[in-house]
Amino acid sequence: MVIRTVHTCISPNIDLSEFQKDIDSVTQILTRHGSFGTFTKRIKNKKNHTCGMCEQKDDPTHVLYECARWDQERRAVEKKIERILPRENEIVDYLKSSQINWLNISEFMTVVMKKKEKGDREIKG
Ligand SMILES: [Zn+2]
Repeated sequence: MVIRTVHTCISPNIDLSEFQKDIDSVTQILTRHGSFGTFTKRIKNKKNHTCGMCEQKDDPTHVLYECARWDQERRAVEKKIERILPRENEIVDYLKSSQINWLNISEFMTVVMKKKEKGDREIKG
């Protein structure tokens, strides 16, 4: 439901059939409902909402732009798109501007979120 809404809102002109797997991570980041301390604290009574690596508030902003844990992935996507990662106020427009932009950004989000979910499960035990 949420996924369909996000698709309708941000990418009605983009064929996502090949990239269906990626939309889940994009949705988590754009709606801020996902494997972030700020969200899991709210729904799972997690004790704190800080990033496991750097003690900063763990939210999509931190993951996308700040956390050193994702420097390598961030540099890789910035090299592909030949610019700095679009800021939060422009990332939706960037995502829907073309198929290749969608692919590059959603791939970055997917890689990061998958690794993050895996790490969070390991921390949780
Ligand atoms: Zn961090």
